[in-house]
Amino acid sequence: MVRPRPESDVTPAFPAPGSGPSPRSPEHWPLRTCVGCRETHSKWQLIRLRRLGETLDVDAGGRAAGRGAYICAKMECWEAARRRRALQRALHLPAGVPVPERVAGLVASMISNSAPETGWGPVRGQEEVQSRS
Ligand SMILES: [Zn+2]
Repeated sequence: MVRPRPESDVTPAFPAPGSGPSPRSPEHWPLRTCVGCRETHSKWQLIRLRRLGETLDVDAGGRAAGRGAYICAKMECWEAARRRRALQRALHLPAGVPVPERVAGLVASMISNSAPETGWGPVRGQEEVQSRS
C-alpha cells in the first residue's frame, strides 16, 4: 500500500489508491508491473529501464522510445530482477547480456534517493502523452 503525497501547493496527478473512481481518465494513471516483485504500481513510482540496442539503459524521464521494463524503487526488487534476469526477458534481450555497471549504479542511486512513500519520478502525470496514435 502506498500513501499519497501530502497535499500541498501542487494538485496530485493521481488519486490515492482505493479512493474511488479516478477523476481522470486511466491514461493519467498508468499502471505498470515491476519485473522484480510482479506487483502493479503507478508508473511514476517505478524506475523505467529500456532496451538500447543490444544492451539496456535507465530511462530517467520515463518517456524514451523503445521497449521498457519497470522496477520498484526498492533494492530488493532490483536485486530480484537482476538475479532472475527479468530485465533481459522483459526487454527481449539475450539472458547473457549483463546489466552495465553504469546502469546498476544509476538505479542504485535512484533507489537510495527515493522516499518509500513518494517514489521518485518526473513531474507527475502532467506531461504524460495521452496517446500516441
Ligand atoms: Zn517491485
